[in-house]
Amino acid sequence: MAVPFRRTSKTRKRMRRTHFKLSVPGMVKCAQCGAPKMSHRVCKECGYYKGSEVEGVVKD
Ligand SMILES: [Zn+2]
Repeated sequence: MAVPFRRTSKTRKRMRRTHFKLSVPGMVKCAQCGAPKMSHRVCKECGYYKGSEVEGVVKD
């Protein structure tokens, strides 16, 4: 079985992990109210999608 020759140092481990960060993909600004929303989803703030209000959306 192949075994790593050297143990990965704290620095190397941390440098590698700088690349996986928290990110929320597909966030766009709502055309209606300007709040950040997920694309292709009804806006959570104003309940609008494609310029018209959608029924059944719980608003704050
Ligand atoms: Zn909105």
